[in-house]
Amino acid sequence: MNSRKDREYETDEILGRYLDADEEEAEQRRLLNDDIIGKYMREKPSSGTAGEEAKRRAERAAAERRAAAAEKAAAQRRRKRRRTAAGILTAVVLIAVLGLWQHHRAPLSPSDLSDAEAEQALKELEENTAASSVSSPESADAAEAGSAADTAAAESVLSEAAPEATPEPTPAPDTSHYDPADDWCLILVNAEHPLPEGYDPEVVLIENDQSADVRCSDALLKMLTDCRLEGLNPLVISGFREHELQELYFQNMTDMYLGAGEDLETAQKHAGESVAVPGTSEHELGLAVDIGTTTNPDVDESQLNEPAQQWLMEHCWEYGFVVRYPEDKSEITGIIFEPWHYRYVGLTASHVMRSENLCLEEYLEKYVNASPDTEEQTDSGSETAESSQPDSSSSVLP
Ligand SMILES: [Zn+2]
Repeated sequence: MNSRKDREYETDEILGRYLDADEEEAEQRRLLNDDIIGKYMREKPSSGTAGEEAKRRAERAAAERRAAAAEKAAAQRRRKRRRTAAGILTAVVLIAVLGLWQHHRAPLSPSDLSDAEAEQALKELEENTAASSVSSPESADAAEAGSAADTAAAESVLSEAAPEATPEPTPAPDTSHYDPADDWCLILVNAEHPLPEGYDPEVVLIENDQSADVRCSDALLKMLTDCRLEGLNPLVISGFREHELQELYFQNMTDMYLGAGEDLETAQKHAGESVAVPGTSEHELGLAVDIGTTTNPDVDESQLNEPAQQWLMEHCWEYGFVVRYPEDKSEITGIIFEPWHYRYVGLTASHVMRSENLCLEEYLEKYVNASPDTEEQTDSGSETAESSQPDSSSSVLP
């Protein structure tokens, strides 16, 4: 019993060390990333005091992340200890029950148990043993302790006692295609689905003065660092955008088309094809980043020739990101092919979207909005989708 307890504490220690090591690795990744970006930023003398402020913000954010990770590790260790205590208690009760049974049963003749009953008990025992051998190690240990106490007694009793030791696990929901825990990163924002009112994500500085939602920042940094470790040079060109900044971008693009001689309506229509109408941009979510390279920050088709971009397009799904506006989905997304625009959707969705070649709209329709609760919403969504071009006049005109 003591050795088992010791083992559990040892496991806790290893788990603790593992979690600490994990956090250390993440921190090293951030430092490496900061170092690379630092070099890049030093080559651009214009960054000045903004760079200093950004560095302070990044340091504060890193300290907060470390504190949160430590708290998480401690909570996991506490939970693990509680589970251990419950496991030991169950084993003690089981052995006590076996002892009592043995004590009362010894004077009785074997004929107390009919052959049929004995056969049934043995059959159940076999089934339970088979079940516990594929369940948790704790229940396997409990069964082992039981058989060590008294095999003969255990054979007739374990079939009754075992269900207590190995409670039926509640079947896990099927999250292979859709994990409801990822709802926060599956928000659909497009011309028909504007940003939720008052949406205000907590963002953290990533690099190049660009920020992203703190909840996807680790995945983003890991993707960037892994790309850099391949000797490539990705750089976040644009991350989280305040609403006002999105308005400015849209206005600039509209002005460009106006300058080319288009009327206002056409200019806004064309602007809306490459810059989202304010309130409908994923950049306002904090879950999207435009990534170029340190030598080519132009977000246009030239990105397709950049090895860094090719690597990102091939590997982004491994980090929970997707190329949000693929070439063959423009009709559905309403946005031209943007090989530089990556959107975080979580690992479950990114794997499914890649393997089934779905864009976010298709994925949500197939796996998320299919339940009866949201059918009404889906119907109204597809109705508005028929007016394919965004109605930009209301949100841009003064
Ligand atoms: Zn973008």
